[in-house]
Amino acid sequence: MSAAVLRAIAGGPHGGPRQGGSGNAAGLPPVRGSLRRDAALRDRTWFRVGGPAEILFEPADADDLATFMAGRPAGLPVTVLGLASNLIVRDGGIPGITLRLSRSFADIAVSGQHLTVGAGAADVRVARAAQEAGLTGLEFLCGIPGSIGGAVRMNAGAYGAEIGGILDWVEAMEPSGRRRLLRRDEIAFGYRSCDLPEDWIVLAAGLRAQPGDPAGIAARMERIRSEREASQPVRARTGGSTFANPPGAKAWQLIDAAGCRGLRRGGAQVSEQHCNFLINTGDATAADLEDLGDEVRARVAASSGIQLHWEIRRIGRRAPDAMSGGAADGEVR
Ligand SMILES: Cc1cc2nc3c(=O)[nH]c(=O)nc-3n(C[C@H](O)[C@H](O)[C@H](O)COP(=O)(O)OP(=O)(O)OC[C@H]3O[C@@H](n4cnc5c(N)ncnc54)[C@H](O)[C@@H]3O)c2cc1C
Repeated sequence: MSAAVLRAIAGGPHGGPRQGGSGNAAGLPPVRGSLRRDAALRDRTWFRVGGPAEILFEPADADDLATFMAGRPAGLPVTVLGLASNLIVRDGGIPGITLRLSRSFADIAVSGQHLTVGAGAADVRVARAAQEAGLTGLEFLCGIPGSIGGAVRMNAGAYGAEIGGILDWVEAMEPSGRRRLLRRDEIAFGYRSCDLPEDWIVLAAGLRAQPGDPAGIAARMERIRSEREASQPVRARTGGSTFANPPGAKAWQLIDAAGCRGLRRGGAQVSEQHCNFLINTGDATAADLEDLGDEVRARVAASSGIQLHWEIRRIGRRAPDAMSGGAADGEVR
């Protein structure tokens, strides 16, 4: 899609914020939520890097999103952001529509041993709601700084538990705008992955828990928090574990053995505290982080023969002056 068409879609040659309520000649359907052109994303990501969204759409609710998805121009790409705790947004920004689920997607309702949670709800809030209701089994979520939508997509997990293990159902939206309700046994979960089609949008999930003692659950959550503080750079600008653990091995051990602990490129650094974490020390670009990650992969391959695979997803376009090395422009994983 050309820049001119995108400019027209987002409000004409002078652009600027445009609230919903009407369509326009370029064919974007009317929305009740907000549509913004050239919206900065950097401060919405854990790494604090990356270029803007060409158009940022925050739907008012699921009906608004469905209308938009059904009526958007064919071929207009849609990228979903959760809390951007597992993402490097590249410096050239994200083309097309970037979708962020607003507060109306963040409700949490507890009924008996079941929770119905919106995809925009933060994992930590879900863990707290379960604790307050005297429900156990969701404590692991308190240390994962993402949203439920991101947790389903990534099959987020910690301390031997993962979201796939506590799910009853997922409500998702197809690119056509059609809503689907999937039972747990209709989705295959793997290590930090699930087989929901990449272009489906998670709207909500049903989670199951067991009765437990609220004080004991709170103590376990506190233990998780302090263990994480001690072992991971949780207060740094980071994206969590950079590479998936290869079968039978620990990524951090391979990275350490390859001499990469503390390795730097520009403002990016391999964490001294946990060397499967990359950190932005202050002025890193997305290219610094991605290129450092690729250098780590190359060094690990040379020293151990093992290919590490990115767990962190890199999305969007590289800035033109950063396209000499690293992954191809526009690659999305
Ligand atoms: C300090 C730190 C610690 C971490 N510890 C852990 C850990 O212990 N275990 C773990 O598993 N992860 C961990 N992570 C990684 C990250 O928090 C998880 O992967 C989390 O589930 C990502 O959720 P998110 O909302 O931030 O998703 P994002 O990072 O925004 O997105 C990740 C992917 O999910 C997709 N996505 C997001 N929302 C939706 C949606 N509604 N529908 C469809 N797709 C969607 C995005 O398109 C993207 O492909 C950690 C990260 C940090 C920074």
